[in-house]
Amino acid sequence: MYDDLERVLFDEARILSRLDELANEIVRDYTGKPLTVLAVLHGSLVFMADLLRRVPLPLELACIVASSYQGGTKTTGHVALGGLDVNRLQGRHVLVLDDILDTGLTLNRVAREVSAQPGVLDVRVCVLLAKRKRRECAVKADYVAFEIEDEFVVGYGLDYAERYRNLPCIGVLSKNVIGRSTKDSG
Ligand code: 5GP
Ligand code: MG
Repeated sequence: MYDDLERVLFDEARILSRLDELANEIVRDYTGKPLTVLAVLHGSLVFMADLLRRVPLPLELACIVASSYQGGTKTTGHVALGGLDVNRLQGRHVLVLDDILDTGLTLNRVAREVSAQPGVLDVRVCVLLAKRKRRECAVKADYVAFEIEDEFVVGYGLDYAERYRNLPCIGVLSKNVIGRSTKDSG
């Protein structure tokens, strides 16, 4: 898997030390508040597991599935949401966790959907990565672990055609791999 990276942006130690800082901010902001963390699957899984173990608050965890890619590196422009149990959000502060803010389409859709639910106290967004670019949809990211340039990255939960999620680091995927057919990549 490492051979398929053009370069590593953040190794595991760097990611975890940044998560310590992010967790401190979250603890500072949510202490004493009823917090539900809403993780957007599957990209946020690894980030969520490492981040939440650094947040010693009595929070609840909920998950939704959002998908806009179909195996490639470009968004399809349509975001499907699944598995949101709105009854669990009543009277809660909701912190939406996602892997990466790119066009903003996914998080704009998720944040609007959650904000529209009756009884939700407030909605904030936390991402592992935010690309430095103009968003197609406005999203305010309240917590960002790292800002990156507009390149296609994998690892630490982020996939290309469902692979590389288990890489412990975050890296730029090499252009040769993106060119290769995804059908015969196993
Ligand atoms: P957006 O809706 O903001 O365009 O994109 C959000 C989703 O697109 C992310 O949750 C992620 O699944 C995918 N995505 C965007 N940029 C990248 C990237 O550089 N690498 C990978 N692996 N996924 C990305
Ligand atoms: Mg995703």
